[in-house]
Amino acid sequence: MENIDINRTWDDVLLLLKDEIPEPTYSLWVCPLVPNGFSSNEFSVLTSQNLSIPIINKHHDSIVKALSQTLGQEVAFRIIFSEELNKKLQKQAKKTKDEDFIKNLENRLVPSKYDGLKQMQSSSNLNLKYKFENFVVGQTNNFAYHAALAVAQKPGAKYNPLFIYGGSGLGKTHLLQAIGHEVIFNTKLKVKYIKTEEFINDFLDSLAKGGGGKKSDSNAKMAKFRDKYRNVDVLLIDDIQLIEGKKGTQEEIFNTFDVLHNAGKQIVITSDRPPESFSDTPDRLKSRFAWGLITDVQVPDIETRMAILIKMSNDANIPVPRDVIEFLAQVYSKNIRELEGAFNTVCAYSEINNIPITLENTKKIINYSENSKMITLTDILEKVCKYYRISKDELLSTSRSSNLVKARQVIVYFAKEMTQDSLNTIGDFLKRKHSTIIHSLEEIKKDMQLNPSLVKEIADIAKIIKD
Ligand code: ADP
Ligand code: MG
Repeated sequence: MENIDINRTWDDVLLLLKDEIPEPTYSLWVCPLVPNGFSSNEFSVLTSQNLSIPIINKHHDSIVKALSQTLGQEVAFRIIFSEELNKKLQKQAKKTKDEDFIKNLENRLVPSKYDGLKQMQSSSNLNLKYKFENFVVGQTNNFAYHAALAVAQKPGAKYNPLFIYGGSGLGKTHLLQAIGHEVIFNTKLKVKYIKTEEFINDFLDSLAKGGGGKKSDSNAKMAKFRDKYRNVDVLLIDDIQLIEGKKGTQEEIFNTFDVLHNAGKQIVITSDRPPESFSDTPDRLKSRFAWGLITDVQVPDIETRMAILIKMSNDANIPVPRDVIEFLAQVYSKNIRELEGAFNTVCAYSEINNIPITLENTKKIINYSENSKMITLTDILEKVCKYYRISKDELLSTSRSSNLVKARQVIVYFAKEMTQDSLNTIGDFLKRKHSTIIHSLEEIKKDMQLNPSLVKEIADIAKIIKD
């Protein structure tokens, strides 16, 4: 009897357990178990997570019953934690936790008046998460909010362009896209949202000659590119600071701007700095950015941060106690993206592990310790940039020079080690795709195995960050 096919046996057991063990425990904890062996009448499985042992053991009797039924004899059952499996599955497990659960949370947002217009919104490149109705207004974004609302209600009529600037994670993209949704809801105007990075890539792509290398192909490509950005009523350009030093793109933005502006079309621009602080950008372009209204968004005060959390908790229909809200708002004080990331992590973790959201659990989940300083993505970014003597702008730019690529990898490494932020949050923070973040993490870990001096460097930086 010892010679059974453990994989097949376990598959059969899973079928029986599916009806016995309630969701989501079945999917989250039972399915990932890996059959390990069958000897001395004991069937063992491996788990990659220590946490799952008490959860699985709660269902010990059901599992023994299913095993005995499948094998036709009394069988004992054991669950074993495997470090190796943990490592192997870590990536996969993280992915489930980070992505699916957080997506799930986002999907729970209350229905919106804009929902019927999904088609239009996706062709405009807009994300329904960013609406006026879930933007919390406080002292530090009040002016920007009202300017954005005014523009959305009468595009092209008042402030053109509207230029919104401010630090990372303070709601610029949110306001920019909210304008788009509102315009689509109120009018039949054509809206286009673009990230500057995509505009640059698209532009460079159009410059490259077509497949046959013929000039006519290239002209056709460029005409198509121009049509895409000029044949719109409202153009929303995100993170325009990325055009610094890029002559060709600057020229193209300049011409696009003039065509639209002359035709009374609305332009809204966001940036992490005001126009006058752009280096390596022609004055004629900078002055155009200032033709309409310039407004900034600043770090919100504690009341606004708490209001944002309360709104998120209501929208996601997840009750969060007041002391937890206050605590998170105090800890994550500089960046709403980080605040939101922490909130999502706490909700996802408590849901996955079926534990209540209490202050004590929250502190554990975000790795908070009263004695040691709480480390945020902003701290890591600042310290790593300082260590490598590079500017924050360079780090967040699109440049792929080797020192910048390395510094980004180091930041991703510490972000994963020292914070509880999801890969998506880290990606948003660094303005990189989720896949790039995963790749960075793999690369740096590989390099650390091969290169002892990098390990020392990382240890030095870790000390500086924790200081
Ligand atoms: P930025 O573009 O300035 O870097 P985002 O607009 O992407 O920042 O905002 C980061 C996150 O914080 C987004 O998920 C956004 O919805 C949220 N957020 C920012 N400001 C507010 C606000 N005032 N109310 C609600 N959510 C906000
Ligand atoms: Mg943004």
